[in-house]
Amino acid sequence: MTAERKKVAIIGGGITGLSAAFYLYKEGNMDFTLFEATDHLGGKIQTVKHEGFTIERGPDSFVARKKSASKLAADVGLESELVGNYKGQAFVLNNDTLYPIPGGAIMGIPTELGPFIETELFSASGKARAALDFILPRTGRENEDQSLGGFFRKRLGDEIVENLIEPLLSGIYAGDIDRLSLMSTFPQFYEVERKYRSLILGMKKTTPAPKKQEEGAKKPSNFLTLKNGLESLVKAIENALPPESIRKKTAAESLRKYDKKYELRLSSGEKERFDAVLITTPHMTARKLLEDYSFMGILRDIPTTTVANVAMAFDEEKVNLTKDGTGFVVSRNANYTITACTFTHRKWLHTTPNGKVLLRTYVGRPGNSEIVEATDEEIIDVSLHDLNRLIDIKGRPDFYFVTRWREAMPQYTVGHQFRIQAVKENLAKQLPGVFLAGSSYEGVGIPDCIDQGIDAVKKITEYMKG
Ligand code: FAD
Repeated sequence: MTAERKKVAIIGGGITGLSAAFYLYKEGNMDFTLFEATDHLGGKIQTVKHEGFTIERGPDSFVARKKSASKLAADVGLESELVGNYKGQAFVLNNDTLYPIPGGAIMGIPTELGPFIETELFSASGKARAALDFILPRTGRENEDQSLGGFFRKRLGDEIVENLIEPLLSGIYAGDIDRLSLMSTFPQFYEVERKYRSLILGMKKTTPAPKKQEEGAKKPSNFLTLKNGLESLVKAIENALPPESIRKKTAAESLRKYDKKYELRLSSGEKERFDAVLITTPHMTARKLLEDYSFMGILRDIPTTTVANVAMAFDEEKVNLTKDGTGFVVSRNANYTITACTFTHRKWLHTTPNGKVLLRTYVGRPGNSEIVEATDEEIIDVSLHDLNRLIDIKGRPDFYFVTRWREAMPQYTVGHQFRIQAVKENLAKQLPGVFLAGSSYEGVGIPDCIDQGIDAVKKITEYMKG
Protein backbone atom coordinates (compact mmCIF):
# COMPACT_ATOMS: atom_id res chain seq x y z
CA MET A 1 0.00 0.00 0.00
CA THR A 2 1.43 3.42 -0.90
CA ALA A 3 1.47 6.04 1.86
CA GLU A 4 -0.90 8.97 1.39
CA ARG A 5 0.94 12.07 0.13
CA LYS A 6 1.25 14.78 2.74
CA LYS A 7 -0.44 18.11 2.12
CA VAL A 8 1.10 21.51 2.83
CA ALA A 9 -0.63 24.91 2.84
CA ILE A 10 1.46 27.95 1.95
CA ILE A 11 -0.28 31.16 2.97
CA GLY A 12 0.80 34.27 1.03
CA GLY A 13 2.06 34.52 -2.54
CA GLY A 14 4.87 37.05 -2.09
CA ILE A 15 8.44 36.06 -2.93
CA THR A 16 8.76 34.06 0.33
CA GLY A 17 5.70 31.92 -0.35
CA LEU A 18 6.56 31.57 -4.03
CA SER A 19 10.12 30.42 -3.43
CA ALA A 20 8.89 27.93 -0.81
CA ALA A 21 6.29 26.63 -3.29
CA PHE A 22 8.86 26.37 -6.08
CA TYR A 23 11.42 24.41 -4.05
CA LEU A 24 8.74 22.26 -2.41
CA TYR A 25 7.47 21.38 -5.88
CA LYS A 26 11.01 20.52 -6.96
CA GLU A 27 11.32 18.13 -4.02
CA GLY A 28 8.30 16.41 -5.54
CA ASN A 29 7.21 14.36 -2.54
CA MET A 30 4.41 16.48 -1.10
CA ASP A 31 1.23 18.10 -2.37
CA PHE A 32 0.77 21.77 -1.63
CA THR A 33 -1.61 24.68 -2.18
CA LEU A 34 -0.51 28.30 -2.16
CA PHE A 35 -3.24 30.70 -0.99
CA GLU A 36 -2.99 34.33 -2.04
CA ALA A 37 -5.52 36.92 -0.84
CA THR A 38 -5.28 39.21 -3.88
CA ASP A 39 -5.73 38.49 -7.57
CA HIS A 40 -1.99 38.56 -8.27
CA LEU A 41 1.15 36.94 -6.97
CA GLY A 42 4.38 38.70 -5.98
CA GLY A 43 3.23 40.72 -2.95
CA LYS A 44 5.52 43.74 -2.80
CA ILE A 45 7.13 42.89 -6.13
CA GLN A 46 5.15 44.82 -8.73
CA THR A 47 6.40 45.95 -12.12
CA VAL A 48 4.56 48.27 -14.50
CA LYS A 49 5.38 48.48 -18.21
CA HIS A 50 4.35 51.83 -19.63
CA GLU A 51 5.32 53.64 -22.83
CA GLY A 52 8.54 51.66 -23.15
CA PHE A 53 9.52 52.18 -19.47
CA THR A 54 9.94 49.39 -16.94
CA ILE A 55 8.84 50.79 -13.59
CA GLU A 56 9.13 49.05 -10.24
CA ARG A 57 6.51 50.06 -7.72
CA GLY A 58 8.16 48.10 -4.91
CA PRO A 59 11.70 46.66 -4.82
CA ASP A 60 13.81 47.46 -7.86
CA SER A 61 16.70 45.02 -7.35
CA PHE A 62 18.47 42.74 -4.92
CA VAL A 63 22.00 42.54 -3.53
CA ALA A 64 24.19 40.39 -5.75
CA ARG A 65 26.30 39.17 -2.81
CA LYS A 66 23.45 37.06 -1.42
CA LYS A 67 23.15 34.31 -3.99
CA SER A 68 19.67 32.85 -3.50
CA ALA A 69 17.85 35.38 -5.69
CA SER A 70 20.10 34.97 -8.74
CA LYS A 71 19.99 31.19 -8.20
CA LEU A 72 16.20 31.23 -8.13
CA ALA A 73 16.19 33.34 -11.31
CA ALA A 74 18.49 30.75 -12.93
CA ASP A 75 16.36 27.86 -11.64
CA VAL A 76 13.31 29.29 -13.44
CA GLY A 77 15.25 29.93 -16.65
CA LEU A 78 15.88 33.68 -16.29
CA GLU A 79 19.66 33.67 -15.82
CA SER A 80 20.26 35.46 -19.12
CA GLU A 81 17.81 38.21 -18.08
CA LEU A 82 19.79 39.25 -15.00
CA VAL A 83 21.21 42.76 -15.30
CA GLY A 84 23.54 44.68 -13.01
CA ASN A 85 23.31 48.30 -11.92
CA TYR A 86 25.42 51.00 -13.49
CA LYS A 87 27.99 51.73 -10.80
CA GLY A 88 27.90 55.51 -10.84
CA GLN A 89 28.52 57.93 -8.00
CA ALA A 90 25.81 58.11 -5.34
CA PHE A 91 25.32 61.21 -3.20
CA VAL A 92 24.06 62.20 0.19
CA LEU A 93 22.12 65.41 0.59
CA ASN A 94 23.02 67.54 3.54
CA ASN A 95 22.18 71.24 3.99
CA ASP A 96 21.19 71.81 0.35
CA THR A 97 24.39 70.26 -1.00
CA LEU A 98 24.85 66.90 -2.71
CA TYR A 99 28.06 65.33 -1.39
CA PRO A 100 29.56 62.26 -3.10
CA ILE A 101 29.45 59.27 -0.76
CA PRO A 102 33.12 58.87 0.12
CA GLY A 103 34.90 56.01 -1.67
CA GLY A 104 35.43 52.86 0.41
CA ALA A 105 32.44 53.59 2.69
CA ILE A 106 30.59 50.39 3.53
CA MET A 107 27.18 51.38 4.85
CA GLY A 108 28.90 54.63 5.78
CA ILE A 109 31.80 53.01 7.66
CA PRO A 110 35.16 54.17 6.32
CA THR A 111 37.40 51.41 5.00
CA GLU A 112 39.71 53.76 3.08
CA LEU A 113 41.03 56.73 4.98
CA GLY A 114 41.93 59.00 2.02
CA PRO A 115 38.36 59.70 0.85
CA PHE A 116 37.21 60.27 4.45
CA ILE A 117 39.94 62.76 5.12
CA GLU A 118 39.18 64.61 1.87
CA THR A 119 35.36 64.68 1.97
CA GLU A 120 33.61 67.93 2.90
CA LEU A 121 30.62 65.98 4.17
CA PHE A 122 32.07 66.02 7.71
CA SER A 123 33.70 68.76 9.74
CA ALA A 124 37.27 68.38 11.02
CA SER A 125 35.91 67.70 14.51
CA GLY A 126 33.48 65.10 13.11
CA LYS A 127 36.41 63.30 11.46
CA ALA A 128 38.49 63.52 14.61
CA ARG A 129 35.61 62.03 16.60
CA ALA A 130 35.31 59.16 14.11
CA ALA A 131 39.02 58.46 14.55
CA LEU A 132 38.37 57.70 18.24
CA ASP A 133 37.03 54.39 16.94
CA PHE A 134 40.66 53.26 16.76
CA ILE A 135 41.05 53.45 20.53
CA LEU A 136 37.56 53.14 22.03
CA PRO A 137 36.68 49.91 23.87
CA ARG A 138 33.90 47.59 22.65
CA THR A 139 30.44 49.12 23.03
CA GLY A 140 28.28 46.37 24.47
CA ARG A 141 28.41 43.07 26.30
CA GLU A 142 28.67 39.77 24.47
CA ASN A 143 25.42 38.74 22.73
CA GLU A 144 23.68 41.88 23.99
CA ASP A 145 21.57 43.69 21.45
CA GLN A 146 21.70 47.47 21.11
CA SER A 147 20.36 50.02 18.68
CA LEU A 148 22.09 50.37 15.37
CA GLY A 149 22.22 54.15 15.79
CA GLY A 150 23.55 53.91 19.35
CA PHE A 151 26.27 51.50 18.24
CA PHE A 152 27.48 53.77 15.44
CA ARG A 153 27.16 56.92 17.54
CA LYS A 154 29.37 55.36 20.21
CA ARG A 155 31.95 54.15 17.73
CA LEU A 156 32.06 56.95 15.16
CA GLY A 157 30.22 59.93 16.66
CA ASP A 158 26.94 61.70 15.87
CA GLU A 159 28.13 63.60 12.83
CA ILE A 160 29.15 60.57 10.77
CA VAL A 161 25.87 58.91 11.77
CA GLU A 162 23.65 61.87 10.90
CA ASN A 163 25.38 62.95 7.71
CA LEU A 164 25.98 59.53 6.18
CA ILE A 165 25.10 56.34 8.06
CA GLU A 166 21.54 57.30 9.03
CA PRO A 167 20.43 58.34 5.51
CA LEU A 168 22.00 55.22 3.99
CA LEU A 169 20.59 52.75 6.48
CA SER A 170 17.18 54.28 6.91
CA GLY A 171 16.92 54.07 3.12
CA ILE A 172 17.15 50.28 3.41
CA TYR A 173 14.87 49.78 6.41
CA ALA A 174 12.69 52.91 6.17
CA GLY A 175 13.34 52.89 9.89
CA ASP A 176 14.64 54.90 12.80
CA ILE A 177 18.19 53.66 13.28
CA ASP A 178 18.10 54.68 16.93
CA ARG A 179 15.44 52.00 17.44
CA LEU A 180 16.58 49.34 14.97
CA SER A 181 18.41 46.30 16.31
CA LEU A 182 22.10 45.91 15.57
CA MET A 183 21.88 42.11 15.91
CA SER A 184 18.91 41.69 13.57
CA THR A 185 19.93 44.14 10.86
CA PHE A 186 23.72 44.09 10.68
CA PRO A 187 25.06 41.33 12.93
CA GLN A 188 28.29 41.46 10.91
CA PHE A 189 29.14 44.85 12.46
CA TYR A 190 28.64 43.40 15.93
CA GLU A 191 30.93 40.48 14.98
CA VAL A 192 33.58 42.81 13.58
CA GLU A 193 33.60 44.89 16.75
CA ARG A 194 33.78 41.75 18.92
CA LYS A 195 36.75 40.46 16.95
CA TYR A 196 38.71 43.61 16.10
CA ARG A 197 37.30 46.18 18.58
CA SER A 198 37.82 49.02 16.07
CA LEU A 199 35.06 49.03 13.46
CA ILE A 200 37.18 50.88 10.90
CA LEU A 201 40.15 48.52 11.24
CA GLY A 202 37.92 45.45 11.37
CA MET A 203 35.97 46.45 8.26
CA LYS A 204 39.23 47.14 6.47
CA LYS A 205 40.53 43.69 7.40
CA THR A 206 37.34 41.82 6.56
CA THR A 207 36.45 43.59 3.32
CA PRO A 208 37.98 41.69 0.42
CA ALA A 209 40.30 43.86 -1.69
CA PRO A 210 38.67 44.58 -5.06
CA LYS A 211 39.72 41.89 -7.56
CA LYS A 212 42.21 43.04 -10.18
CA GLN A 213 40.21 43.72 -13.34
CA GLU A 214 41.39 42.80 -16.79
CA GLU A 215 41.70 45.98 -18.77
CA GLY A 216 38.31 46.91 -20.23
CA ALA A 217 36.52 44.24 -18.13
CA LYS A 218 33.26 45.29 -16.50
CA LYS A 219 33.24 45.79 -12.73
CA PRO A 220 30.89 43.29 -11.05
CA SER A 221 27.60 44.87 -9.99
CA ASN A 222 26.52 45.21 -6.37
CA PHE A 223 22.86 44.90 -7.29
CA LEU A 224 20.98 42.81 -9.81
CA THR A 225 17.53 42.93 -11.33
CA LEU A 226 15.75 41.42 -14.30
CA LYS A 227 15.58 43.02 -17.74
CA ASN A 228 11.80 42.75 -17.84
CA GLY A 229 11.31 43.78 -14.26
CA LEU A 230 11.30 41.82 -11.02
CA GLU A 231 7.75 40.71 -11.63
CA SER A 232 9.06 38.52 -14.45
CA LEU A 233 10.58 36.35 -11.69
CA VAL A 234 7.14 36.07 -10.10
CA LYS A 235 5.58 35.12 -13.46
CA ALA A 236 8.29 32.54 -14.19
CA ILE A 237 7.76 30.89 -10.80
CA GLU A 238 4.01 30.91 -11.34
CA ASN A 239 4.46 29.28 -14.77
CA ALA A 240 6.69 26.60 -13.29
CA LEU A 241 4.07 25.56 -10.72
CA PRO A 242 1.01 23.40 -11.44
CA PRO A 243 -1.90 25.84 -11.89
CA GLU A 244 -4.11 23.82 -9.54
CA SER A 245 -1.60 24.42 -6.72
CA ILE A 246 -2.24 28.20 -6.71
CA ARG A 247 -5.41 29.76 -5.35
CA LYS A 248 -5.58 33.51 -5.83
CA LYS A 249 -8.31 35.70 -4.35
CA THR A 250 -8.46 33.25 -1.47
CA ALA A 251 -7.42 34.62 1.90
CA ALA A 252 -6.68 32.42 4.86
CA GLU A 253 -8.88 33.61 7.72
CA SER A 254 -8.03 31.33 10.60
CA LEU A 255 -5.98 28.31 11.42
CA ARG A 256 -6.60 25.76 14.13
CA LYS A 257 -5.16 22.47 15.21
CA TYR A 258 -7.36 19.53 14.40
CA ASP A 259 -6.06 16.27 15.78
CA LYS A 260 -2.73 15.78 13.94
CA LYS A 261 -3.70 18.14 11.14
CA TYR A 262 -4.41 21.84 10.74
CA GLU A 263 -7.69 23.23 9.52
CA LEU A 264 -7.58 26.39 7.46
CA ARG A 265 -10.70 28.50 7.13
CA LEU A 266 -10.72 30.40 3.85
CA SER A 267 -12.42 33.59 2.65
CA SER A 268 -14.37 31.39 0.21
CA GLY A 269 -16.11 29.85 3.21
CA GLU A 270 -14.36 26.50 2.70
CA LYS A 271 -12.35 24.66 5.33
CA GLU A 272 -9.39 22.54 4.31
CA ARG A 273 -7.05 20.32 6.29
CA PHE A 274 -3.29 20.12 5.91
CA ASP A 275 -0.42 18.23 7.49
CA ALA A 276 1.76 21.34 7.66
CA VAL A 277 1.25 25.06 7.15
CA LEU A 278 3.73 27.76 6.17
CA ILE A 279 2.59 31.31 6.90
CA THR A 280 4.41 33.94 4.80
CA THR A 281 2.01 36.87 5.20
CA PRO A 282 3.03 40.04 7.03
CA HIS A 283 3.29 39.32 10.76
CA MET A 284 0.07 41.03 11.84
CA THR A 285 -1.90 38.74 9.54
CA ALA A 286 -0.03 35.74 10.94
CA ARG A 287 -0.99 36.88 14.42
CA LYS A 288 -4.63 37.17 13.42
CA LEU A 289 -4.66 33.71 11.86
CA LEU A 290 -3.53 32.28 15.18
CA GLU A 291 -5.19 34.77 17.53
CA ASP A 292 -6.24 32.07 19.98
CA TYR A 293 -2.57 31.53 20.81
CA SER A 294 -1.37 34.18 23.24
CA PHE A 295 2.32 33.68 22.40
CA MET A 296 1.61 35.15 18.95
CA GLY A 297 0.78 38.45 20.70
CA ILE A 298 4.49 39.28 20.84
CA LEU A 299 4.33 39.97 17.09
CA ARG A 300 2.45 43.18 17.98
CA ASP A 301 5.82 44.47 19.14
CA ILE A 302 7.13 44.55 15.56
CA PRO A 303 6.26 48.06 14.36
CA THR A 304 5.88 48.88 10.68
CA THR A 305 6.47 52.05 8.70
CA THR A 306 4.61 53.60 5.83
CA VAL A 307 6.26 55.14 2.79
CA ALA A 308 5.36 56.09 -0.76
CA ASN A 309 7.39 56.32 -3.91
CA VAL A 310 6.86 58.25 -7.10
CA ALA A 311 8.24 57.28 -10.48
CA MET A 312 8.24 60.31 -12.79
CA ALA A 313 9.05 60.21 -16.52
CA PHE A 314 10.34 63.22 -18.47
CA ASP A 315 11.84 64.14 -21.79
CA GLU A 316 15.59 64.44 -21.49
CA GLU A 317 15.57 68.16 -22.43
CA LYS A 318 13.32 68.97 -19.50
CA VAL A 319 15.72 67.74 -16.83
CA ASN A 320 19.12 69.23 -16.26
CA LEU A 321 20.82 66.74 -13.96
CA THR A 322 23.92 68.72 -13.12
CA LYS A 323 25.40 65.91 -11.05
CA ASP A 324 26.73 62.92 -12.89
CA GLY A 325 25.49 60.14 -10.67
CA THR A 326 22.81 57.58 -9.95
CA GLY A 327 20.91 59.29 -7.15
CA PHE A 328 21.01 60.46 -3.56
CA VAL A 329 19.74 59.82 -0.07
CA VAL A 330 18.65 62.69 2.15
CA SER A 331 19.95 63.33 5.65
CA ARG A 332 17.38 64.33 8.29
CA ASN A 333 19.23 67.62 8.78
CA ALA A 334 18.55 68.59 5.20
CA ASN A 335 14.99 69.82 5.78
CA TYR A 336 13.55 68.12 2.69
CA THR A 337 10.38 66.04 2.44
CA ILE A 338 11.73 63.49 -0.02
CA THR A 339 13.98 60.93 1.64
CA ALA A 340 15.77 59.66 -1.48
CA CYS A 341 15.84 59.95 -5.23
CA THR A 342 17.13 57.42 -7.76
CA PHE A 343 18.10 58.58 -11.23
CA THR A 344 16.64 55.30 -12.47
CA HIS A 345 17.41 55.90 -16.15
CA ARG A 346 21.12 56.01 -15.21
CA LYS A 347 21.25 53.31 -12.54
CA TRP A 348 19.15 50.85 -14.54
CA LEU A 349 19.73 51.59 -18.21
CA HIS A 350 17.20 49.00 -19.45
CA THR A 351 14.29 50.75 -17.70
CA THR A 352 14.07 53.87 -19.83
CA PRO A 353 13.81 54.55 -23.58
CA ASN A 354 16.52 56.70 -25.17
CA GLY A 355 15.98 60.43 -24.79
CA LYS A 356 13.93 59.99 -21.59
CA VAL A 357 14.59 60.41 -17.89
CA LEU A 358 13.06 58.35 -15.09
CA LEU A 359 13.32 59.66 -11.52
CA ARG A 360 12.06 57.83 -8.46
CA THR A 361 11.63 59.68 -5.19
CA TYR A 362 10.58 58.36 -1.78
CA VAL A 363 8.53 60.15 0.89
CA GLY A 364 7.58 59.15 4.44
CA ARG A 365 9.71 58.48 7.48
CA PRO A 366 9.03 56.61 10.73
CA GLY A 367 6.80 58.82 12.85
CA ASN A 368 6.24 61.20 9.96
CA SER A 369 4.21 59.58 7.24
CA GLU A 370 1.31 62.09 6.79
CA ILE A 371 2.69 62.99 3.39
CA VAL A 372 1.89 59.46 2.20
CA GLU A 373 -1.82 60.25 2.64
CA ALA A 374 -1.61 63.40 0.52
CA THR A 375 -3.06 63.25 -3.01
CA ASP A 376 -0.93 62.05 -5.91
CA GLU A 377 -0.72 65.64 -7.17
CA GLU A 378 0.49 66.88 -3.79
CA ILE A 379 3.15 64.18 -3.58
CA ILE A 380 4.32 65.08 -7.10
CA ASP A 381 4.39 68.79 -6.16
CA VAL A 382 6.47 68.12 -3.05
CA SER A 383 8.87 65.90 -5.00
CA LEU A 384 9.30 68.44 -7.78
CA HIS A 385 9.70 71.29 -5.31
CA ASP A 386 12.45 69.41 -3.45
CA LEU A 387 14.19 68.25 -6.62
CA ASN A 388 14.17 71.76 -8.08
CA ARG A 389 16.24 72.95 -5.13
CA LEU A 390 19.01 70.73 -6.51
CA ILE A 391 18.42 70.08 -10.17
CA ASP A 392 16.64 72.02 -12.84
CA ILE A 393 13.37 70.38 -13.98
CA LYS A 394 11.12 72.20 -16.44
CA GLY A 395 7.42 71.51 -16.05
CA ARG A 396 5.67 68.41 -14.83
CA PRO A 397 6.36 64.77 -15.65
CA ASP A 398 4.91 63.25 -18.85
CA PHE A 399 3.42 60.58 -16.60
CA TYR A 400 3.93 59.26 -13.09
CA PHE A 401 3.09 56.39 -10.80
CA VAL A 402 2.60 57.02 -7.09
CA THR A 403 2.68 53.89 -4.93
CA ARG A 404 1.77 53.95 -1.27
CA TRP A 405 3.15 51.25 0.97
CA ARG A 406 1.13 51.42 4.19
CA GLU A 407 2.56 49.63 7.22
CA ALA A 408 4.61 47.66 4.75
CA MET A 409 8.10 47.90 6.16
CA PRO A 410 8.59 45.74 9.27
CA GLN A 411 10.98 47.29 11.78
CA TYR A 412 13.48 45.02 13.48
CA THR A 413 13.77 46.97 16.70
CA VAL A 414 16.17 46.14 19.55
CA GLY A 415 15.45 42.61 20.82
CA HIS A 416 13.79 41.51 17.55
CA GLN A 417 15.70 38.23 17.27
CA PHE A 418 14.72 37.21 20.81
CA ARG A 419 11.05 37.90 20.08
CA ILE A 420 11.19 35.83 16.89
CA GLN A 421 13.02 33.03 18.66
CA ALA A 422 10.34 32.99 21.39
CA VAL A 423 7.50 32.82 18.84
CA LYS A 424 9.20 30.05 16.87
CA GLU A 425 9.94 27.99 19.99
CA ASN A 426 6.31 28.28 21.09
CA LEU A 427 5.09 27.36 17.64
CA ALA A 428 7.29 24.24 17.60
CA LYS A 429 5.89 23.19 21.02
CA GLN A 430 2.24 24.11 20.67
CA LEU A 431 1.65 23.92 16.91
CA PRO A 432 4.28 21.57 15.47
CA GLY A 433 4.07 21.65 11.68
CA VAL A 434 3.20 25.37 11.51
CA PHE A 435 6.06 27.57 10.32
CA LEU A 436 6.58 31.30 9.85
CA ALA A 437 8.77 32.87 7.15
CA GLY A 438 9.05 36.20 5.37
CA SER A 439 10.13 39.77 5.64
CA SER A 440 8.78 40.28 9.15
CA TYR A 441 11.19 37.80 10.67
CA GLU A 442 14.70 37.11 9.43
CA GLY A 443 15.61 39.66 6.79
CA VAL A 444 13.65 42.05 4.58
CA GLY A 445 15.69 41.84 1.37
CA ILE A 446 14.48 39.63 -1.48
CA PRO A 447 17.35 37.12 -1.07
CA ASP A 448 16.66 36.95 2.69
CA CYS A 449 13.01 36.16 1.95
CA ILE A 450 14.01 33.48 -0.56
CA ASP A 451 16.44 31.97 1.96
CA GLN A 452 13.62 31.82 4.50
CA GLY A 453 11.37 30.12 1.94
CA ILE A 454 14.08 27.51 1.24
CA ASP A 455 14.74 27.00 4.93
CA ALA A 456 11.02 26.48 5.54
CA VAL A 457 10.96 23.74 2.88
CA LYS A 458 13.79 21.96 4.74
CA LYS A 459 11.94 22.26 8.04
CA ILE A 460 8.67 21.01 6.55
CA THR A 461 10.48 18.05 4.97
CA GLU A 462 12.13 17.15 8.30
CA TYR A 463 8.82 17.52 10.12
CA MET A 464 7.05 15.22 7.69
CA LYS A 465 9.72 12.55 8.17
CA GLY A 466 9.44 12.75 11.96
P1 FAD B 1 4.96 40.15 0.76
O1 FAD B 1 5.57 40.56 -0.50
O2 FAD B 1 4.31 41.17 1.63
O3 FAD B 1 3.90 38.99 0.42
C1 FAD B 1 2.92 38.57 1.33
C2 FAD B 1 1.73 38.08 0.53
O4 FAD B 1 0.76 37.56 1.43
C3 FAD B 1 1.03 39.18 -0.27
O5 FAD B 1 0.91 38.78 -1.60
C4 FAD B 1 -0.32 39.32 0.41
O6 FAD B 1 -1.35 39.70 -0.47
C5 FAD B 1 -0.53 37.91 0.93
N1 FAD B 1 -1.49 37.80 2.04
C6 FAD B 1 -1.66 38.67 3.07
N2 FAD B 1 -2.63 38.21 3.88
C7 FAD B 1 -3.06 37.03 3.37
C8 FAD B 1 -4.02 36.06 3.78
N3 FAD B 1 -4.77 36.19 4.91
N4 FAD B 1 -4.19 34.95 3.03
C9 FAD B 1 -3.47 34.77 1.87
N5 FAD B 1 -2.56 35.67 1.45
C10 FAD B 1 -2.34 36.76 2.19
N6 FAD B 1 14.02 44.37 -1.02
C11 FAD B 1 15.13 44.23 -1.79
O7 FAD B 1 15.81 43.20 -1.71
N7 FAD B 1 15.52 45.21 -2.68
C12 FAD B 1 14.81 46.37 -2.81
O8 FAD B 1 15.14 47.21 -3.66
C13 FAD B 1 13.68 46.56 -1.99
N8 FAD B 1 12.95 47.69 -2.10
C14 FAD B 1 11.73 47.77 -1.48
C15 FAD B 1 10.91 48.85 -1.72
C16 FAD B 1 9.65 48.93 -1.15
C17 FAD B 1 8.77 50.10 -1.45
C18 FAD B 1 9.20 47.88 -0.29
C19 FAD B 1 7.82 47.94 0.32
C20 FAD B 1 10.02 46.80 -0.01
C21 FAD B 1 11.29 46.73 -0.60
N9 FAD B 1 12.14 45.63 -0.38
C22 FAD B 1 13.29 45.50 -1.11
C23 FAD B 1 11.75 44.56 0.54
C24 FAD B 1 11.13 43.36 -0.18
O9 FAD B 1 10.44 43.79 -1.33
C25 FAD B 1 10.13 42.65 0.71
O10 FAD B 1 10.69 42.44 2.00
C26 FAD B 1 9.71 41.28 0.14
O11 FAD B 1 9.27 41.43 -1.20
C27 FAD B 1 8.63 40.70 1.02
O12 FAD B 1 8.24 39.45 0.53
P2 FAD B 1 7.27 38.51 1.38
O13 FAD B 1 6.90 37.36 0.53
O14 FAD B 1 7.90 38.20 2.69
O15 FAD B 1 6.00 39.41 1.72
